[in-house]
Amino acid sequence: MSEQLIIALSKGRIFKETLPLLAHAGIEPLEEPESSRKLILDTNHDDIKLIIVRASDVPTYVQYGGADLGVTGKDVLMEHGGEGVYEPLDLKIACCKLMVAGPKDQPEPSRRLRIATKFVNSTKRYYAEQGKQVDIIKLYGSMELAPLVGMADRIVDVVDTGNTLRANGLEPLEHIAEISSRLIVNKASMKTKNRRIQALIKDFSEAVQNA
Ligand code: AMP
Repeated sequence: MSEQLIIALSKGRIFKETLPLLAHAGIEPLEEPESSRKLILDTNHDDIKLIIVRASDVPTYVQYGGADLGVTGKDVLMEHGGEGVYEPLDLKIACCKLMVAGPKDQPEPSRRLRIATKFVNSTKRYYAEQGKQVDIIKLYGSMELAPLVGMADRIVDVVDTGNTLRANGLEPLEHIAEISSRLIVNKASMKTKNRRIQALIKDFSEAVQNA
């Protein structure tokens, strides 16, 4: 029997949008993560399993070999730093932008800007590149709220349609990065399971081109 291949995915948009790519590679999950509480999902191949983890944990599972491959947003990967993983393919799914946003028509304060975000590392890097000193407030969600209650001047968040910003009286101010989901591969797996992983990259790549 051949060695196992483990692919890390997160629930929701990434899982749904990865399904057609897996299908093109002949891989079909036998269970749905939304209806199953199982964290390891069997597929139509005995030696290929899908593991369902938090979106922000996907790079960590792949880095430490808990999974051979994973699908993760570039925003998550930038925040993680990308150590220990290869990023061979842009899957062009779950596209959005990492942006600075803030209340309409609010001038910069004379003190340091206060930025609320869950993307602490990317935010630090962005302002450091501009030589700008800012105070960063780490949040885990609903960043849009922070300027509304006077806790922060700006937020750094992923923006798709911008509806969530507008609904909260905020507007996009600065573009930091284009975001899409990436296929990532554990560096050791790339060597030890090279043939199978290259075949999977080729199948995924064809599916992305045909999409
Ligand atoms: P929007 O369409 O801009 O109103 O986005 C709705 C919410 O979904 C926002 O709060 C974003 O944080 C989040 N979001 C949008 N696109 C993505 C994505 N590709 N990955 C993760 N979160 C997203």
